Amino acid sequence: MANSRTPNMRSLSLQDEAQYRSFFDEVRQSKALRRVLIFLAVLGLVTFVPAWLGLTTPALPVSTYLPLHTALEFSAIAIAVIIFTVGWSQTSVAPTLRLVVVATAFFAVALLDFSHTMSYAGMPDYFTPNSAEKAINFWLAARMVLAVALLLIVLPFSDRVVRQGAFFTVLGLSFLYIVSMHVWFLVFPSTVPRTFIQEQGLTPFKVSVEYLVIVLHLCAACLVTVRYHSLRGFQPALLFGALVQLAFSEFFFTLYGNPYDLYNLMGHVLKITGYAFLFRSFFYEAVTEPYRQLMRSQRQLKDSLADQHLSAIAFHTREAIMITDAGHQIVRVNAAFTDITGYTEKEVLGCNPKILSSGKHDETFYRELWRCIQTFGTWSGEIWNKRKNGEVFAEHAVINAVYDPVGEITHYIASFSDVTDRVQAQEQVHRLAFYDPLTGLANRRLMIEHILTAQADAERLGNYSALLFMDLDFFKKLNDTLGHSKGDSLLQQFAGRLKSHLRSTDTLARQGGDEFILLVRNLGTDKATAALHIEQLGEKILETVRQPFQLGQQTYGITVSVGAMIFGKEHHTVDDLLSSADLAMYQSKEQGRNRLHFFEPEMQEHLTKRTALEFDLSVALTKENELELFFQPKVDTLGVVQGYEALIRWNHPEQGLLQPGDFIELSESTGQIVALGRWVVQQVVSMQLHNLTTGMRMVPIAINVSPREFLEPDYADWLIEQLASTSVDPRWIELEITESALQGNLSIVQERLESLHRAGFLIAMDDFGTGYSSLSYLQHLPLSVLKIDQSFVAHVVDRASDRAIVKAIIALAKALDMKVVAEGVEDSAQSSELVRQGCDLFQGFFWSKPVPWAEAARLAEQPPR
Ligand code: C2E
Ligand code: CA
Ligand code: CA
Repeated sequence: MANSRTPNMRSLSLQDEAQYRSFFDEVRQSKALRRVLIFLAVLGLVTFVPAWLGLTTPALPVSTYLPLHTALEFSAIAIAVIIFTVGWSQTSVAPTLRLVVVATAFFAVALLDFSHTMSYAGMPDYFTPNSAEKAINFWLAARMVLAVALLLIVLPFSDRVVRQGAFFTVLGLSFLYIVSMHVWFLVFPSTVPRTFIQEQGLTPFKVSVEYLVIVLHLCAACLVTVRYHSLRGFQPALLFGALVQLAFSEFFFTLYGNPYDLYNLMGHVLKITGYAFLFRSFFYEAVTEPYRQLMRSQRQLKDSLADQHLSAIAFHTREAIMITDAGHQIVRVNAAFTDITGYTEKEVLGCNPKILSSGKHDETFYRELWRCIQTFGTWSGEIWNKRKNGEVFAEHAVINAVYDPVGEITHYIASFSDVTDRVQAQEQVHRLAFYDPLTGLANRRLMIEHILTAQADAERLGNYSALLFMDLDFFKKLNDTLGHSKGDSLLQQFAGRLKSHLRSTDTLARQGGDEFILLVRNLGTDKATAALHIEQLGEKILETVRQPFQLGQQTYGITVSVGAMIFGKEHHTVDDLLSSADLAMYQSKEQGRNRLHFFEPEMQEHLTKRTALEFDLSVALTKENELELFFQPKVDTLGVVQGYEALIRWNHPEQGLLQPGDFIELSESTGQIVALGRWVVQQVVSMQLHNLTTGMRMVPIAINVSPREFLEPDYADWLIEQLASTSVDPRWIELEITESALQGNLSIVQERLESLHRAGFLIAMDDFGTGYSSLSYLQHLPLSVLKIDQSFVAHVVDRASDRAIVKAIIALAKALDMKVVAEGVEDSAQSSELVRQGCDLFQGFFWSKPVPWAEAARLAEQPPR
């Protein structure tokens, strides 16, 4: 697979690197150069110390010196010949001016050095009689040509590539030089300036020429250090070493006093090592380096073949792979890509990967993705893409940029796998945890989280938010009459209608049953404005709900009660907020439902009181004297007591005498009514037992049964059992039930009432006329008494409509063979009207308020009025 690197890892190319490194860095880093410099330092010491000390070296005997000199010179000549021949062969590969100059210069050096060796005094005569001067002449000719050539090749133009034929031209020039030198020195020796005078030593001319050569070498060496990094085609360190050695070598030749002394010999040794350095400098790279490169590239080739093989295998994974070029055009995909996306390689080649885009992500998503790739070279994450068949799927993708050696992006490789199942499972878990399955709305848990966010916002920005608690009115009735599926349908439609009034920042949740919570955020920093907004929203909600709902074939009208709580940065717990909104909702229920009510602080007080009262009642139920029964007589047309109604009172230790209105509804909502009801039954039963035993005139005592009590599964059995254990006949107990107790399963209610009736209990329908139940139940239930609700009695005289209702109820009761009781009779006008209408029994302040038993019992003894 292609090598992918991040741009900051990009390596500098060799040239770049060179620009940042100096010759001195090179000294530190190049082992070769360091070695050369150490070698030269030692050489310098060996050379200069004896010279400074003015030591003269002893001359060797000619018989020793000559063979040594000859051997040294022939070695030097051999190296020069090698340089010439290798140089010549190299010109066919890289014909640079430098190579041509080096090769042809060494051609001249070899021949001139040969003539120098052969001309040495003591050697057999070479064309003309030998002498020290003749040898020196050839020597200087060789040194000059070499010095000039070495200076030339470090100049910039020597890199120039020359024609193949140029070599022979320069070789010709070199040959011409050799020949002319030979002619000059052999044929016209007297015209050559003096270089050596026997007994005097070296002439100033000879020494000057040597110094000139030294200067030329040192100039060349300086140029090497200056142009160190731009020199190509040879190793500059070695060339530098060679030049310095040759300079030293020349220096020795300025020192000797006699052609056979040690300085002279040393000069020759240095000349050979100098040539050897030159050879290595020029031909090491030319000869060895190409082989190295060959080996290297063979290795790379092998590696890359292995790489290719690997990438071929990697390409055939189950992960989809898509490769694009730097311009985002798809250049390759694998088989898994086709499996996942449905597109074949042919279909997508040259396309932009956008063809897979599902439209589920916005521009910011892609911008962030590309920013990440440009910065870090890689991105990974989940993307929703689209298959060829239009199906949207989730993939886990990794995208990498591929760089070339200079750090430019050449390709992008994206690999991905289909993770739709996993993502959907995660989403499902999330939905179950945070959403209501029926309506798809948030659930209470998610709502709490959103409330916390809103509170954080309020704290930061001072913004008000509102919580609206909504509860459908009489939803239970819908469930009972039309069934749960219709109920569910209504809840869904209700949620749908509400959603249309919401902003994106609002949250609507269903917290269970028919209870919904709405969180409205960002209501601004003014509480009054916020309240106004919520009032308008509340009106809109009430109005939309009032429109009839279509449940199958049936249209159904329903209303909703809404409680609102506005909150800002003042501290409330989430529970506080929710229960406040809940309380406000109850308030709107109490005020007649189908309305919006705001939470007010007094309501909070009320809430606190309620909680305290609940506790106190649980204590009262365990005590003897806190709860007490009062009794209100029911009289006939003659004013004779024909029964009583037991009405509960609570002697609260702090609040004094409490009426049922203060605690009955509370006990119903907490369930305490069940215990309370049983306590009343036991009291009444024991009272009747007492009446029985004391021989008092027996009349029925009515007990109020709340729907909650009556719906207890064992209610009838328990009641029958209570009387079975005493000698009190059930006919002395009357049960007052209300129409709301008839809700729910009517057949169960009927069965329960039947068994109580069979046992002998009297059953009265209390508050008749206020409920909404159909009248038809009357004929199916074993009722003995109808109690006309006091609201009708109150206006029976002054309101014709109420009078008509009373008349109808009485007629109905007569028809069904029931007794009629009018309750709440407060004056004689009401009483006489009711008598006139044919009412059987009367109950009200006109005869007596509810009073303790001792007083009530006395009333029974009074003669008729
Ligand atoms: P209710 O069953 O309709 O009881 C009649 C209520 O009317 C009584 O109120 C009684 O004091 C009042 N009343 C009687 N005559 C008059 C009158 O001439 N004018 C006016 N204005 N009111 C009159 P109370 O005692 O406050 O009871 C209120 C309700 O509390 C009862 O209504 C009944 O539903 C409930 N309740 C009372 N005691 C019990 C009980 O032991 N168990 C249960 N479950 N409920 C009870
Ligand atoms: Ca009653
Ligand atoms: Ca009543």
